Amino acid sequence: MKNLTDISELIKNCTNCELSLTRTNAVPGEGFFQSKIMLIGEAPGSFEDNSGKPFVGASGKLLTKLLNSIGLSRDDVFITNIVKCRPPNNRDPSPNEINQCSPYLSKQIELINPTLIITLGRHSLSYFAPKTPISKAHGTIINQSGYTIYPTYHPAAALRQIRFHETLSEEFQRIPSLIKSLNK
Ligand code: SF4
Repeated sequence: MKNLTDISELIKNCTNCELSLTRTNAVPGEGFFQSKIMLIGEAPGSFEDNSGKPFVGASGKLLTKLLNSIGLSRDDVFITNIVKCRPPNNRDPSPNEINQCSPYLSKQIELINPTLIITLGRHSLSYFAPKTPISKAHGTIINQSGYTIYPTYHPAAALRQIRFHETLSEEFQRIPSLIKSLNK
């Protein structure tokens, strides 16, 4: 795996786990290869599976709005998921599927070398910090395995409940100052 474009091609053709049997398109992720910010969700959903692009359904629209609210576009960040193919019926990815897929994410993180990793939702957080509940960790900084992680609720949760929406919006507003302080 030499560069991010090579990784995307490998992901699109990957058959390393059974999710390859039911996907329409693998979803490698997209955005700015030199971004200071990576946003990482759990897995593609049906819109993402159909389009091959991350976060393009209702959750994706909210994510785009949140980014715009802090002066960023999707082209300023890199957006991806822990696993790159949709689990059938949006079930949780299995530990084996996560293990099979994780080398792609590790390589993406290594090459982008972001200042801040924003985990979207509890499954993404638990990939990096398995024993940390999102109810306590959201909106805080976690230093784990050499990464600086900023856990937030998933946009889908924010669409379901107004209190998550308000919290997610407030926590996005802190991202520019966090980046500034981390770059000092
Ligand atoms: S989920 Fe990951 S490991 Fe499984 S087929 Fe898709 S790209 Fe390959």
